[in-house]
Amino acid sequence: MAKILVIDDDTDNILIPLVRQLGRVFGSENVEGVTNVQAALELAERETIDVVVTDLMMPERDGFDFCRTFRGNPLNLGYIIILTGRDGGIAAGLRAGADVYFRKPYDIDDLVAQIEKGIEVTRNRLFAVQDILTGLFLRRIFDAVFSLEAAKLHRVPQPLSVILFDIDHFKKVNDTFGHQVGDIVLHDAAQLLKKVSRKSDLFVRYGGEEFLLLLPGAAEEKVLEIAKRLHESMVEHPFPTVGQVTASFGVATTLRHPDNLVARADQALYSAKAAGRNRVVAADPEQSPPR
Ligand code: GH3
Ligand code: MG
Ligand code: MG
Repeated sequence: MAKILVIDDDTDNILIPLVRQLGRVFGSENVEGVTNVQAALELAERETIDVVVTDLMMPERDGFDFCRTFRGNPLNLGYIIILTGRDGGIAAGLRAGADVYFRKPYDIDDLVAQIEKGIEVTRNRLFAVQDILTGLFLRRIFDAVFSLEAAKLHRVPQPLSVILFDIDHFKKVNDTFGHQVGDIVLHDAAQLLKKVSRKSDLFVRYGGEEFLLLLPGAAEEKVLEIAKRLHESMVEHPFPTVGQVTASFGVATTLRHPDNLVARADQALYSAKAAGRNRVVAADPEQSPPR
C-alpha cells in the first residue's frame, strides 16, 4: 500500500484536517503527518514514502529545503506536491525537486486525484531502478548510494560494509534444468535473502547471478553474522525442481577507505570460491595508509 506524508506547521487549519481527510481515502495507517522538515526526513529514512504533500513556508527548514534534501538520496523516489497559499516560487520549487504545485485553499477531490497520480508516478520510478527478474535494485543505484555513503565516511567515521555473493555452479543449473528454471532460482534466491537481510540495507543485483548487500553503520561482527545467516538460509532452502543451491560470500568492512571496499569483498569472494565454494570469507583487515 502507498504511504503518504503531509508536512505542515499549521496544525489546526491544515495538518490535522488534511491527514484525517486523506486517511479516509487512503486508509489512516497509510497517512502520516508531521509539523516540520526534520521530522519528515527522519521518517523518510525509516520508511518508503510514495507521496509527500508539503507546505512551503515553515519556521525552521522550509519546503524547498525538504525537496532538495529528500531528492539528495537516490532511494527517495516519492512524488512531491507543494501545497502553498503563497504566490511565486514555482520555478524554485520545481528545481529543488518538487513535482507539482497545489494551491491553498485546496479542493480535497482535486488533491486526492493529484495524489493518486503521484502514486502512479512513484510506481513507475521504482520500475526504473529495479531489476525485473529479482525486484532488487540495479547496480547503478548501488553506485549512486555508495558514493553518498562514501562521502559520509569523511564527515562521520562509522563502519561501511559490503557482502558480495555469487551462486555456486549456476551454469550447471542452467545447463541441467534450462534457463527458465535458472531464472526461477535467481528470483527465489533474491526473495529468500531479502527476507533474511535488514530492511535498512541496500540489496542489489550486482551481476547475472551475483548479488551485493551494502550495510552502512553495522559493526563488523554483525555484518559477518548477517552473511552467515544468508549463507545458511541458502543451504537450507529447497529450491523447486533443483533442490539445494549454494552460494559463496565475500565480506568487507571499512572505517575510512571506501575506495577499495568492493574490491576487497570481491577478493574475499574469490577466496571463498577457491577454497571450495559454499562458504563465507571475510576480507583481510584494511591496511592503514602509509604516512
Ligand atoms: P561459480 O561457482 O564459479 O560461480 O560458477 P558459475 O557456474 O556460477 O559461474 P559462471 O560465471 O561460470 O556462470 C554464471 C552463469 O549464470 C552463466 C550465465 O548464463 C548465468 N546467468 C547470468 N544471468 C542469468 C539470468 O538472468 N538467468 C539465468 N537463467 N542465468 C543467468
Ligand atoms: Mg556463480
Ligand atoms: Mg558470477
